[in-house]
Amino acid sequence: MKISDLLSGDLETRVDRRLLLESVVGHPHEWIAANPEYVLHEIEIDIYEALLTRRMAGTPVAYLLGWREFFGLEFSVSPAVLIPRPETELLVEWALELVAEKDEVTILDLGTGSGAIAISLQWKRPRAHVVAVDNSPDALNVAQDNAERLLEGRPGGAGNMPKFFKGHWFKPLGNQQFNLVLSNPPYVAANDPHLELGDVRFEPPGALIGGVDGLDALRDIIATAPRHLLAGGTLLVEHGFDQGPACQSLMEKAGFEQITTRPDLAGHPRITGGRLIHATTN
Ligand code: GLN
Repeated sequence: MKISDLLSGDLETRVDRRLLLESVVGHPHEWIAANPEYVLHEIEIDIYEALLTRRMAGTPVAYLLGWREFFGLEFSVSPAVLIPRPETELLVEWALELVAEKDEVTILDLGTGSGAIAISLQWKRPRAHVVAVDNSPDALNVAQDNAERLLEGRPGGAGNMPKFFKGHWFKPLGNQQFNLVLSNPPYVAANDPHLELGDVRFEPPGALIGGVDGLDALRDIIATAPRHLLAGGTLLVEHGFDQGPACQSLMEKAGFEQITTRPDLAGHPRITGGRLIHATTN
């Protein structure tokens, strides 16, 4: 069987099939496009067909390939972690606006998962001191591997490495305070029908579901953040399209000022940030 046979037909699944084929033959897109007459070995066909069967049963392409691009970096992913999403890149971009390249600030990423946020920030800001927390040891293994693979060989030489801690939100951090705290926590409501569709069916529920109204983690993080922010520090949280007002009022109650919400690429309110002007003493 040739590459051209495998990639003909059904447009809808063609991108998925091409990505799976690339991973089976171990060549990039350009090579696949330039070699339609390449005849696959039997073992390659078997592997490809096994992957395609799992894809047809719903397994996300990112889990089949074992990676997903985020912020121009290739992150390893497994079913232990949420698949990084384009809207979360906006959270990283907002954070980068707040931290200059020379700044030796401290940054905390809560619920780091694959490490996408923490590692992208460390990549762009080698002088920052980045701390990342997750409650799942399996997720932390993925994040740690990503940090080593992506950051140790970064161009321009040495920089800091993120430090990873296991635990529930701020718990493993004692009294530590940071210049910037950010999080893409679980924020989907437990009965949201969206959980029955597409990729999310295969993602870890603990990374998606934030209790009955989806706000459990956001309530916890926003209420506790002031104790872990230095004076003038900022909190940024990703949230559901309809949770902007709730996050704003939670931040107000917690003493934040300059509270704003930014939209995602589809125009939905997606990230809310606030500044803590006066530090809280622990
Ligand atoms: N944006 C994701 C979704 O809708 C949810 C991610 C999260 O809960 N942090 O599937």
